[in-house]
Amino acid sequence: MPMSKNLLRDLPQVQKLLESSEADALCTEYGRTCLINVLRDDLAALRTQITAGSLTEIPDRQSLLARAGAKLSLRSRLGLRRAINATGIVLHTNLGRAPLAAEAIAAVEDVARGYCNLEFDLSTGKRGSRTHSLENLLRELTGAEAALAVNNGAAAILLALSALSDGGEVIVSRGELVEIGGGFRVPDVIRQGGAKLVEVGATNKTRLADYRAAITPETRVLLKVHQSNFRTIGFTAETPIGELAQLARSKNLLVVADLGSGLLHETPGSPEPTLSQALAAGADLVTCSGDKLLGGPQAGLILGKESALDRIRTHPLLRAVRLDKMSLAALEATLLLHRDTPERVPVYAMLRQSSGTLQRRAESLLTLLGIGALERTEAFAGGGSLPEERIESWAVALKLPGGADHLAAALRAQTPAVIGRISEGRLLLDMLAVTDAELPVLAEALKAALG
Ligand SMILES: *Cc1c(COP(=O)(O)O)cnc(C)c1O
Repeated sequence: MPMSKNLLRDLPQVQKLLESSEADALCTEYGRTCLINVLRDDLAALRTQITAGSLTEIPDRQSLLARAGAKLSLRSRLGLRRAINATGIVLHTNLGRAPLAAEAIAAVEDVARGYCNLEFDLSTGKRGSRTHSLENLLRELTGAEAALAVNNGAAAILLALSALSDGGEVIVSRGELVEIGGGFRVPDVIRQGGAKLVEVGATNKTRLADYRAAITPETRVLLKVHQSNFRTIGFTAETPIGELAQLARSKNLLVVADLGSGLLHETPGSPEPTLSQALAAGADLVTCSGDKLLGGPQAGLILGKESALDRIRTHPLLRAVRLDKMSLAALEATLLLHRDTPERVPVYAMLRQSSGTLQRRAESLLTLLGIGALERTEAFAGGGSLPEERIESWAVALKLPGGADHLAAALRAQTPAVIGRISEGRLLLDMLAVTDAELPVLAEALKAALG
């Protein structure tokens, strides 16, 4: 095979490839060893192709170095990277839920860069509490006697039930044994906390009498779980927190309410109870997530009676689910904004945009793209919050010969990745969770995706 022999002889040596200004630049950026390894692998692959007869021409040196550069750049890309959320769902768990406020990001940067008084009391110079300043803010915002923050909403329930049930029984309605997403089921968490789960009522109806009949000397907690991502409609009945609290008090039991979303401000027309309302109705403890409607970092909040919180503070699980300094910084900054200027919390602001604002944003995108069509959409808060409340939004709809799946995949491969929603063979870019500042980046990504 004289042809392949010649080609093999013509393959350049790694040393020769390194003697160029392009190679020098790659060495500076990625290191000499990495460049040599990538070039060796590429030359070995070419040798295999030549021997197999599938290569008839060797790429020139410049393209070999360009290929090496592209490979090195891909290798150094982070797996976790930015995305533009054009799905029309503000709290998208798969896309990281709440974007943080500028103030929260600045607070994270401040404590991440150096040291901080995480567990150090600056007035006494002695050991201090990790969540002290946060607890004061939470009390002020919700009227709770006491408060605590942990790693996430699931950790908050696990910890609360582990500490309060003490291996006894926890009574919960059959209509509230929900799966939140990603296989996370409330009953599994209850059992993991060492409690015995006692289900009462029917899927569509659970009355106070059902709870009362299930109480035994082993009962410790009456649990109320927000239905989050689904609704029972039609012939239904649920027992409100206030009635559960009265029953619990007469039997010396505790009421724990997992609200899921952590609403701080009353929202006109929304059936969701706020944290303050659930506490005022008589719940001994209320738990929720920090990164749903609260608009903060991943966190779980536990609010309620001092006596109940005291049992949680001394539970060994607390150490395993405590918050890190960066999340604490972001959470405190977000809560400060909720107290003084809630409109600066991105999730709060996004959910209050007018249809006109969203229409204008879609029009701006359409102008930048030069293709597509304007379309009215129904968008959602997401994160198990306000599931049946549709938000009037606007999108740019793209219908291309290559198909919506193909375009969606090409957009996901961009940096930042762009995630849209496919509907009736078209790709919709919904404006609800896209910012004005992201529009030019989104347009660039689309141009690159279309090649
Ligand atoms: C979201 C949710 C949880 C879980 O909270 P994470 O912060 O995701 O751990 C628990 N209960 C309800 C009702 C929820 O909606």
